[in-house]
Amino acid sequence: MQTNFTPEQLAKPAFASSNVELSACLQCDYCASNCPTYQMLGHEYDSPRGRVFLIKEMLESPQRPADTTVEHLDRCLSCLACMSTCPSSVHYMHLMDHARAHIEEHYRRPFKEQLLRWMLAKVLPHPGRFRLAMRGARWLKPFSPLMPGRLRGLVALTPHKLPPVGTLNRRQVLPALGERERRVALLTGCAQTAVNSDINEATIRILRRHGCEVVITHAGCCGALTHHMGKMKESHAAAEKNIRAWMAEINGKGLDAVIVNTSGCGTVVKDYGYMFRDHPLAASAETISGLAKDISEVLSELELTHKSVPKLRIAYHATCSLQFGQRIRYTPMKLLKAAGFTVLEPRDAHACCGFAGTYAMVQPEMATQLRQRKVQTLEQINPDAIAVGNIGCMMQISAGSQVPVVHTVELLDWVTGGPMPQALASVGEVSG
Ligand code: SF4
Ligand code: SF4
Repeated sequence: MQTNFTPEQLAKPAFASSNVELSACLQCDYCASNCPTYQMLGHEYDSPRGRVFLIKEMLESPQRPADTTVEHLDRCLSCLACMSTCPSSVHYMHLMDHARAHIEEHYRRPFKEQLLRWMLAKVLPHPGRFRLAMRGARWLKPFSPLMPGRLRGLVALTPHKLPPVGTLNRRQVLPALGERERRVALLTGCAQTAVNSDINEATIRILRRHGCEVVITHAGCCGALTHHMGKMKESHAAAEKNIRAWMAEINGKGLDAVIVNTSGCGTVVKDYGYMFRDHPLAASAETISGLAKDISEVLSELELTHKSVPKLRIAYHATCSLQFGQRIRYTPMKLLKAAGFTVLEPRDAHACCGFAGTYAMVQPEMATQLRQRKVQTLEQINPDAIAVGNIGCMMQISAGSQVPVVHTVELLDWVTGGPMPQALASVGEVSG
């Protein structure tokens, strides 16, 4: 695509990078086939090609972004399905990140919208504040059908039960059980620690049983939540904290990997190198990106010792951030199959469940429609449980289905000697 940036604009790294991506776009529209919002709305500007054009027009213009441009760009899930079919390898994620930051800086949203986004940025990345908000929301849950759209969306996602405050919120080193083969850091995360402590506990157990010393530097956000809202100052500050903490470990006793068990966060941590490309921490950020691994990648490198053979039909929901953001498509399914589960995929395996970071909270109507579509195809498999690799998608699917939803690592921990995931308590006799 022909671009028309001024030399002053191109002197800025963000514009220079976007110029490369925009120039690579052939406007061929191959990306439209997998785009959930284009499938739902059928509008060119709700397709990746249309959005690429809108981004170009918006970034080139000296005017503030137009309302309609923001509306169409806001509707993008950043699911990255479009990147999987692009013949020109346009890095849509980086383009969209720049567009969101540009909107955040140059566009004035209506007051209610600003307030919601401010609140999400101030609450979600902080486990203590998030727990408090979830407590309040649980009381409001029975009244959610009477609430206006956005509030209803927020309250509907609240889990019925919150775990007690865990002990993983401070620096600690958990030794390998048996001979130490690897030393790994685990990102315990922010929102995840507030709503579900089982995932981190299962991750730590399975890693320690398989020769890993697990280092937790602190409980904190990776920066993804604010990054997706274009709040770059906040997201960079959170990322910087992680980079410094993990580099201190690398420069001390060393690290073989930085493990992330929330695929949305993993996509961002793997992108730290790009995010900090013009920053004094560029080399450190690149090092961290190089060491970042999804938990399924690490488990596939270890020889898992299976102890039980569960007779369960598992519907595997491939999260967008894992299959498109990190290009990890089959690894979790292979691990589950090797463990003895019957693993099935829904027919729309490429489709987003509608969670997408903060999307379910800022675009609840579209998010609900996408969830209904996803839950329907998952339930058509008639599974005993649904396995997912991202806490947000777990919450989203749980809010629309009675089928137990578990993290893949909880199932793998169970079959290698850990406890049965609590969510499966209702499934009855499941192992033999
Ligand atoms: S598939 Fe790639 S090159 Fe074609 S329109 Fe989409 S982003 Fe542009
Ligand atoms: S990221 Fe997802 S929703 Fe956004 S344009 Fe690409 S396919 Fe469509």
